[in-house]
Amino acid sequence: MLCKPSNSTNSTVRVGMPPAWGPSPTAATSYFPPFLTCHCGQMRVLIIGGGLGGLGLAQGLEKNGVEATVFERDRTLTARPQGYRLHVDSRAADALRQCLPPDLYDLFEQTTSRPSHRVTVLTPQLKTLKTIETGPGFSTSVDRLTLREILSTGLPDLRFGAQFTHYEPRNGTIRAHFADGTSADGDLLVGADGIGSRVRSQYLPHARIVDTGTRCVYGRTPLAAVEDRLPAPLRDGFCPVTDRRGLGLALGLVQFRTKPSALGLTAHEDYVMWSLAARGSRLDQEPADLIRTWHPDLRNLIDRATPEATFEIRIRTSKPVRPWTPTAVTLLGDAIHAMPPSRGSGANLALFDAATLCTRLTDIGGYEDVMRRVGFAAVRGPRSYWPRWFRR
Ligand SMILES: Cc1cc2nc3c(=O)[nH]c(=O)nc-3n(C[C@H](O)[C@H](O)[C@H](O)COP(=O)(O)OP(=O)(O)OC[C@H]3O[C@@H](n4cnc5c(N)ncnc54)[C@H](O)[C@@H]3O)c2cc1C
Repeated sequence: MLCKPSNSTNSTVRVGMPPAWGPSPTAATSYFPPFLTCHCGQMRVLIIGGGLGGLGLAQGLEKNGVEATVFERDRTLTARPQGYRLHVDSRAADALRQCLPPDLYDLFEQTTSRPSHRVTVLTPQLKTLKTIETGPGFSTSVDRLTLREILSTGLPDLRFGAQFTHYEPRNGTIRAHFADGTSADGDLLVGADGIGSRVRSQYLPHARIVDTGTRCVYGRTPLAAVEDRLPAPLRDGFCPVTDRRGLGLALGLVQFRTKPSALGLTAHEDYVMWSLAARGSRLDQEPADLIRTWHPDLRNLIDRATPEATFEIRIRTSKPVRPWTPTAVTLLGDAIHAMPPSRGSGANLALFDAATLCTRLTDIGGYEDVMRRVGFAAVRGPRSYWPRWFRR
């Protein structure tokens, strides 16, 4: 029997009801109910994509004795630039508490940044336009690589360099095929392969991803290089800077509670993540040129960035998809409800989906109802990539 719950004496996997989506709970409560008992026999789950959602799901399944394999196309966790700082709130924290064993959840908490208390919207001359208190709930940030390292720890079957190409239903199971000519059979195939999902394009070819027309240059500046000239509000939380003519700079400080290297993870120093966003071709200019009239401390922050850590992305989003008939193929995270990074929600929701799927493994339709409702509500949000305060 492959299903062997870690904290139960019988050989069943516990499956629970979907969480009600509502206001943020406090740290003491959880969106996720305890698992209920149901039988899923020798279920084998194939997870395509070893990003946040795929790894989170694999951890949750492993914790509950369900056999799962993660297939990740990249050769290593660091093969591509994918951004640095991730805002995480109680959606991610609750999901991780559910999916991770206590020692890994502890590692997650220890490597979070100092909590965020407020968002401060600034002018290019560092005048405060607005402050928004973030409230008492869990609100902080993590480094993406650090979190992925934690999520990868202890997984029995995580395969790198495995690029999924397509699947085929086969005698009541699903066969996944890979670019190197290999294949794998499972009872459930989960597309956790991000915004460009191959699983989605085969399973739901009508689902649409659209380019918002906004481009964004991401960078990272070591805190030590700018500490003496750091805009003070950054110490309290995220800071969007707007020229109110469509150019925006978002700043987020990552000050690890405990340095990852002290916990056996890849070393990172404290840093400031910045992203400069504009529509159309404005970003053809160098970031330093675009902000040449801005406050010297902001220019200093961009000037002192680590050059090899700077990269550009197009901001894309997804169109809501009508319910479909559940089968042995499903999707989670960006593979189905991708949204612009500016919402600070995509990672939180990928982990939320992972935890929800763990509680609904034998009720894929029920999982998908929750996943679509919560995910596409976040996608719909404000129409534009630009939050209100960035607009002209
Ligand atoms: C710069 C940036 C900043 C962001 N900031 C935030 C933030 O502050 N807060 C927040 O909540 N969200 C943020 N997001 C969004 C967040 O990163 C995503 O929503 C989240 O990573 C989605 O998780 P996922 O597991 O669904 O997909 P991903 O994390 O994208 O993982 C998908 C994985 O699938 C793999 N894959 C793809 N195709 C294949 C294939 N054919 N075969 C095998 N493997 C494949 C990929 O290599 C990747 O590892 C940010 C995004 C970016 C780009």
